[in-house]
Parts: sequence; C-alpha cells; structure tokens
Amino acid sequence: MTHQAFVQSLRQIVGAANVLDSDVHLQLYQYDAYLEERRPDAVVFVHSTEEVSRVVKVCHDFGVPFVPRGGGTNLSGGTIPFKGGVVLEMIRMNRLLEVDVPNLRARVQPGMFNLELGNALAPLGYQYLPDPASQKAATLGGNVAENSGGPHCFKYGVTTNHVMGLTVVLSDGEIVTVGGEAPDQPGYDLTGVFVGSEGTFGVCTEVVVRIVRQAEGVKTMLAIYDSIERGSETVSAIVAAGMVPATLEMMDQLVIQAVEKSLSCGLPLDCATVLIIEVDGLKDDLEAQTEAIERLCLAHGAREVRVAKNDAERALLWAGRRGAFGAVARLTPSYLVCDGTVPRTALPEVLRKVAEVGEKYDLQIPNVFHAGDGNLHPLILFDWRDAEQKERVMKAGMEILALCVQLGGTISGEHGVGLEKMDAMRLVLSEADIRSQLKVKQAFDPSDLANPGKIFPAPLEVAHVQ
Ligand SMILES: Cc1cc2nc3c(=O)[nH]c(=O)nc-3n(C[C@H](O)[C@H](O)[C@H](O)COP(=O)(O)OP(=O)(O)OC[C@H]3O[C@@H](n4cnc5c(N)ncnc54)[C@H](O)[C@@H]3O)c2cc1C
Repeated sequence: MTHQAFVQSLRQIVGAANVLDSDVHLQLYQYDAYLEERRPDAVVFVHSTEEVSRVVKVCHDFGVPFVPRGGGTNLSGGTIPFKGGVVLEMIRMNRLLEVDVPNLRARVQPGMFNLELGNALAPLGYQYLPDPASQKAATLGGNVAENSGGPHCFKYGVTTNHVMGLTVVLSDGEIVTVGGEAPDQPGYDLTGVFVGSEGTFGVCTEVVVRIVRQAEGVKTMLAIYDSIERGSETVSAIVAAGMVPATLEMMDQLVIQAVEKSLSCGLPLDCATVLIIEVDGLKDDLEAQTEAIERLCLAHGAREVRVAKNDAERALLWAGRRGAFGAVARLTPSYLVCDGTVPRTALPEVLRKVAEVGEKYDLQIPNVFHAGDGNLHPLILFDWRDAEQKERVMKAGMEILALCVQLGGTISGEHGVGLEKMDAMRLVLSEADIRSQLKVKQAFDPSDLANPGKIFPAPLEVAHVQ
C-alpha cells in the first residue's frame, strides 16, 4: 500500500478538502492537553455516521489505525496517534438532533461542545448535568469516551449515569447501536462498557443523553480557611451530616493567587484554601441548607463564609473555578495534571503527602479539585524544555498516584488512562484483570485499529490473551 493510494481512497469518500496530510497540518494534530507528541499520517474531517463508517472501513482494509478526536482537551494523551494512522476529526458532527422533553432525553452528535448543549437546553428550562470544567471546548464524544466528570458530578454522577444510548462505528466499519431511547434495554449493558473506553472500541457518532429539569433555585457559597486541613476536614463533615451539595470544590492558595492574577474574582489572596459549595433544589429549602452548611464550615474552622448575593457573584465564583487550569498555566511553561481519587475522609492526609512529594522532588504542586468526590488534581509545575525537570515531574506524578492507591483510592477520577497512566494500571489491576479487560477490547476491535496502544500495558503473560 502506498500512502498516496490510501489518502486517495479517503479523499474519494469525504472530498479532497477534508483530508489533510501536509506537514504543517499534521503538526497541529500531534498533541493534546497531555505532554507527549506523535504525528498522524492523515487527518480526516467527517460529517456523518455513514462517512465515518466508510472511512473506518478503508482504514480496516489498509490495516491503518485510527484515533477519534473531539476537542483535544483530554489530559492523558488519548488523542495522540501513538501508532500513527488517521486522526478522525469529529468536530463538524456537532448538531443537536432532537430534544424530547416529555421523555427527558436529547439526541446529539458527538462533536457538539458540552457547553453548547447546556446553552441549547437552558431556554427550555432543562439541563444536561455532567459539566467538565473544560466544557467550553470539550465535546460530548470526548466526554463519553473519557466518562468525564465535573463539579456537579458529586451529587448527580458522571457521564455514564447520563448516557442512554450510542451509535457506534466498529473498527471494520460496521454501524451498531448500543442502549437506546428506552430506559432498560435487553442484552448486555454495552453502553456502560463503551462509555469510558477512550476511543479504543470504535467511534461514537450519536449520543442519546438524559436531560433533567433545571433546579428551581441555586445558592453558591465560598468558605474561606487559613488551614488546608480544616478545609478538607469540612468536606467529610458536610457529607457525614447527611448533606449532599450539588458541588464541593476546593482550591488552594497558589491556585487562588493565579486565578486572581488572571481573572480578579474577589478571592482572598492570604487564605490557605477555599471551598466552593453550591446547593440546589426547591427554593423553600435552599435557605435552610445554606445556613446548615455555613454553620458546619464555621464549626470546622472556616474564617468566613460568603454567600453569592446574585447571579453575577455566582458567575464570578464559577469563572474562577472553571478558569483555574488556564490561570495556573500562566505560572510556568507547563504542568502535569494528576488525576487520582481517595476516599474523601483521606483528603487531609493525601494533601499533606502531596506537599511532601513536592518537597522531595523540589517542585511546586498547587491543588484545585472536586473535593466532594475525593478527586484530586495536583498540578505539578515545570518547564517542559528541561528534560531533567520532566523526569522529576513524571516520578512525582507516579508517586502521587501510588499514594492515592495506598489510601484506598485509585489512579484516575475522570481524565482517563490514555498513554499517561498505562504503567500505573498495575497499581490497581492484577495480570488476570488486565487480560480480562483486553478480551473486551478484542471483542469490539479484533484487528486492534481503534486508538491502539492506549489504556493497558501489555500483559506480562501475553500468550494467555486469546
Ligand atoms: C482546562 C481543562 C479542564 C478540564 N476539566 C475537566 C473536568 O472537570 N472533568 C473531566 O472529566 N475532564 C476535564 N478535563 C479533561 C477533558 O476536557 C475531558 O476528558 C473531555 O471529556 C475531553 O473531551 P474532548 O472533546 O476534548 O476529547 P478529546 O481530547 O478529543 O478525546 C478524548 C478521548 O476521547 C476519544 N474520543 C473523542 N471523540 C470520540 C468519539 N466520537 N468516539 C470515540 N472516542 C472519542 C479520543 O480518541 C480520546 O481517547 C479538563 C481538561 C482541561 C484542558
């Protein structure tokens, strides 16, 4: 096979303008929000399920790997074409196909941005709940593939709890549906299996999502602490008191200072940490919930609790939280976003130990994270141009993941495994576990063309995989 013959076959399907293979174009698709790079052999813009099917069939016939790509915002190297091949650019499949309010569902194409779906539903009084902080630039296809979370997932669950069905193109080009519009489909729960499969089972070309009525009212609080331990203790105390706020987010001092420098949200620069706590529900009940949480925060050492007085104040708090990763990016040329979880009761201990890892490797590690879920995001700051620093960062990142596991948690909360955490999988899975998972991959993608070389390290006893 020549590259030219392959590219020509692709052009016959999608048109010449929708296939890129010049050096400069390929360079633009060799990275995502993780730290590794690898250039694809071609980039193909697709516009429909049928087009995806035909393009994937050509890849299958030529034995070429393919990698679906949405917004490219993933933090684990999921869209890096590790084994070369085609990047399937999904971003033009971005239409809202149907909103079915009486049945509480919507049908969307995977290239639609998460926030755009929210914006389309809001005037109807409805919402789609998973809300990754990257929602302006992350697509629903990417959210499905990473089983993404977000601030509101503490109360409402992550993407898998809000996807009812999918249209999927398998790696030989066959089009299948998993799940569907009815709530309880017969057969295996393949929707649950596909969500979180990081592009390694095939290409999702349509998503049926669950939508819900917007809450009648919302109140957002900022609890301010002089001690990071007291702040993180409050998280467990709130839950232990039987309360489940819609969000329970935490930012430490370095992050607060970065956010203030770039966004001026009115956060206090001298505190150790803040919690952003939001309650939602019936208007009558909100005042009581807010007061109970305020009392708990103060009893656990908060120096002050501010309640947003109006939508503008609330929006400012969220702008700070959602803009935190971007703000921190102004501190150093690069950073590694760690993503691990611990039981929320272990938050004070893990934060202390993360700081010790920073000291050990001489690295600054600010924290901004989904505290209610015990889902940490230590951001390890460094300069990617310095190979020695990068090595230290990788070691520190791995040590933090090991810490999470030791404390009863795991190596990923929401950002996926991708290329980044393949080795860390052995911290949580046995060889038998890895082999059984790879059998699922083989069932979906026997020719190993869908985003190959991701998620699982090769099993030590490869011969056992059949
Ligand atoms: C500033 C910032 C904040 C973030 N905050 C959060 C957060 O709060 N919560 C969270 O969970 N994540 C967060 N992320 C990570 C990231 O945004 C999510 O993983 C997101 O879901 C990725 O969506 P995407 O469209 O960018 O996907 P991409 O990065 O393009 O792809 C991600 C993976 O999905 C696969 N994929 C993409 N589209 C398809 C498809 N149609 N079919 C099959 N596979 C597909 C890709 O092959 C890849 O493996 C954040 C990232 C950044 C940069």
